[in-house]
Order: sequence, then C-alpha cells, then structure tokens
Amino acid sequence: MLLYWMEKLKRIKPVIVFHLVLNAIIVVFITGASYYHVPLEGLKDHAIYFLHLCALQSTVAGILYVLSLFKWTFRVVFSILFLSYCGFSFWAYSQDISITRSLIQGVMETKPDIAIDLITIPYFIFYLVAIAVLIFILNWHGRLNRRKGFRIFIVPAVALIIMFFVFERKQYGIFKFRLPYNVVVALDDYYEQPPFKLEQKIPPVHSGTDSLKVVFVLGETVRADHLGLNGYNRNTTPLLSQRKDIISYSNLFTSKTITATSLPQILTDQLLTDTIGSYTSLYSVVNDGGFKTTWIGNQTMEKSYLPIVETNRDIILVDKYKSVFSFDKELDGVMLKPIDSLLRLNDKQLITIHMIGSHWWYENRYEDRHRKFTPVIDSKYIPSLTKEQVINSYDNTVVYLDYFLNEIITRLEKERLPTFMIYVSDHGEILGEGGKWLHAQEDDALKNPGYILWFSESFRQWYPGKVTAIEQLKNSEITTDVIYPTLLDLLDLQVSEGK
Ligand SMILES: [Zn+2]
Repeated sequence: MLLYWMEKLKRIKPVIVFHLVLNAIIVVFITGASYYHVPLEGLKDHAIYFLHLCALQSTVAGILYVLSLFKWTFRVVFSILFLSYCGFSFWAYSQDISITRSLIQGVMETKPDIAIDLITIPYFIFYLVAIAVLIFILNWHGRLNRRKGFRIFIVPAVALIIMFFVFERKQYGIFKFRLPYNVVVALDDYYEQPPFKLEQKIPPVHSGTDSLKVVFVLGETVRADHLGLNGYNRNTTPLLSQRKDIISYSNLFTSKTITATSLPQILTDQLLTDTIGSYTSLYSVVNDGGFKTTWIGNQTMEKSYLPIVETNRDIILVDKYKSVFSFDKELDGVMLKPIDSLLRLNDKQLITIHMIGSHWWYENRYEDRHRKFTPVIDSKYIPSLTKEQVINSYDNTVVYLDYFLNEIITRLEKERLPTFMIYVSDHGEILGEGGKWLHAQEDDALKNPGYILWFSESFRQWYPGKVTAIEQLKNSEITTDVIYPTLLDLLDLQVSEGK
C-alpha cells in the first residue's frame, strides 16, 4: 500500500512542484505587494499576517490549478493577467497605493501620453524581470503533463476557490481588498457608477448686473495647511500675505480626493439636487445669466468633467497633449497671456483657469526663482527620497501658486469695473502621513484644500453684504459643496425655483 502511494506521489510530483513554484512567484510579484507595507511589530504580528497571506494565496492557487489544466487558455489568460497585475503591484510595492475605483478611473481615463511618463527605470526593470519569469513559467507549463493527478487535485482546488467565498462571508473584506482580488472589486465599482448626465434645460436665470469680470481658479493638489496665509510655519505665500484684502479659508473640506471626482462636484449642483445622476453645470447657469464663459486649462481633460467644461462658450487648452505626469509640461504661467486678452473683450465674463498646480512631479511646476526651500526631490522614485526633499519641492510649488495668483490679482486691480478672484484647490496631497504619498487614496491630508478669495474695491462698494458674508465664514468648517451656490451668489445670479 505504502509503495503504491509512493509510486503515485512520484508520478504527480512534477505537478505539485510546478504549482508550488508558480504560487511562490505570484506571491513575490503580486499578492505580496498587499502585505509589504503593513506595519508589523513582533513575531506574533508577522505570524498572523503570514497565515493570512497563505490562506489568501491558497484561494488563488485553486484558480491557478483549474486554469493550468488547459494549455492555450493558460498561456493566453495567465500571460495577460500576470502582466496586467504587475502594473498594479509595482505601485503597491513602491508607493503603497490603494487599488480602488479611483485608481481604476485614473487608469481608464488617463491618456497614453500621460501613461508614458509613469515609466521609471525601476518600473521598466520590474517589468523586464516579470516578462522573463513569465516565459519561464510558460515553458515549464508546456512541458508538464498537466492532467496528471487530475482526480486527486481537482476537488481540493475547487474547495480552495469556494473557501474564498466562505471566508468573505464570515468576515467581509478579509481577502477582497487585497491583491489580486481588489482589482476585480475596483473594476466592478468603476463600471457600476451611475451615469452622469448634465441637465440641458434649466429654469430661467436672473442676473443683477451688467458688468462683472471674474477669474475662477481651479487649483490642483494644494493643501490649506501648507499656505503661509493660513499660518503654515513657512512663508509659502509671501506676495499674497502682504496684501491686506485676501480672504483665505483654512477649514474647507472635501470628500473627493481626485480631480476626476472633485471637479464635477465643484462645478455642478451635484450635492444640492435631488435628481441623482442628473446635474446642472455651473456654466449653463452663468451663460444664461448673460456672462461670457471661457475655460483656460493646463491639464488634459478627463472623461468625468469634460462635458461640464464643454458648457463653456470658449475653451482654450494650453499644452493639451501633456498632462499632470508630463515632465516638460508648460508652467501655469502660460495661462496669464490669454487672461490679458480676454479681460479686454467683455464687460461681463467668467474666466475659469484650470491649473496643473502642485501635482507630482513638483519640480516641473515652478520656475527656478521660486525654489525657496532646498534640498529638493531628485528622483521620480519616491521611496528613494527623504520626506524633507518631498515637502521642500511641494512647498516651492505653493510659492509659485502665490506668484501666479498675485499676477491675476494685479491684472484685475487695473479693471475699472467690479471684479473678483476665487481660488479653490480640487483636493490636498499626502506628504508622508502614514508612510503614504501623493493622492487618489484615502487620507485626511487630501481633504482640506486651499480656498482663497479676493475682491476689488469697486466690487466691495457694490456688494458690501456679499463680501462681509464671505469674510465672516472664513474660519468656519465648510465643505466644497458651498462653492457652487457661493459663486452664483457672488455673480449676482438667481435661478428660479422648481428645477
Ligand atoms: Zn487633482
């Protein structure tokens, strides 16, 4: 009897060895990334997480076994999955990114020109090694007698797959928020979003003014607590701080932590309407109020807010084929020129400026003369940088913002007619909090963006009540859903009831 089993084991051994090695490779290249950044202390912690990883990988092993039974299906499906997953796991390893709907949205809606800039040398090497490993697996699989031991293995393999659902039922999220399952969950979330529709017909709009020139600046990735104006211990806003008429909010909060979700919230009545999935664009109302609307953007537009931008009368995109991740992207300063010519054209207009702002890679977001804090970042690979370098570079982008907003105000000050500038950032940035960086994740550092207003003398004289109301609120805790009604009120526009 013993001999019989030994003989049997000998025959199925190659299949066992293949699957052990295959699973070890998957742990190294994919699954392990979800555990790599878990802060662990002591033997007990490590043991618990090791068992967790083994349990999760066992469920994956079941799937891999079933897949491996079919030669060509395995070749094609496994290759596609393995290489796609390596794309996610690299970022999970190197930056501890969270794979959520937000990230999938970023991947799906990012244009190829932007994606190219994400390829760093470590990323490239990681992929080369992954390809070599893939070829090794495929060769081995080709030589293997795949069906050997089928009757022994198939039942446990299916049982392992079922184990995933049993565990998930017992404790929701025990496996599904980790690699490889989180990608599937995130994809599902992404496609499940209710379709976003813009209201075409809006109630009559009443405008209380014939002359008002407004510059509305949509910032990018600027944290309120890194503004000198808000009491940050570094004077990142030397020019604006010298002005006595700046109103800066330190307690504006947002729940939207990426541009793609934040802009639709700021630029529509999303949070004020009862009709889910059908919103009114700010610009539709402003157009009906007789304003000329122009969008000047320094970012490649994303699917989520493109329809809103298109409700502007005019759209000017500077450097339109390069976006936030580009390395030789135009500075925001190039948008000052179109502002100059536009201001001369119309007495009643709203100009929106969409900045690239303080988006990573920070060093390409400001001029040398704004490099107030050093040493700065010198590598794209975040784990190789010090916290000080990252924050210095980030703060230099804020110094540039100070210059940029001051330039806009200087232009508006020359206007005879009432004018104002309103600046709001779409979200903040994680600067090392909890060992994390950048945005598109979940962290409080992302939820308190900068919000700055400036009113001209003539505006203050025409609308003293509006300015006082803005001043009184500046220390209150408010959320970004106030921006839409605030802007309409400052533009002296009333929308009839009964949407
Ligand atoms: Zn953004």
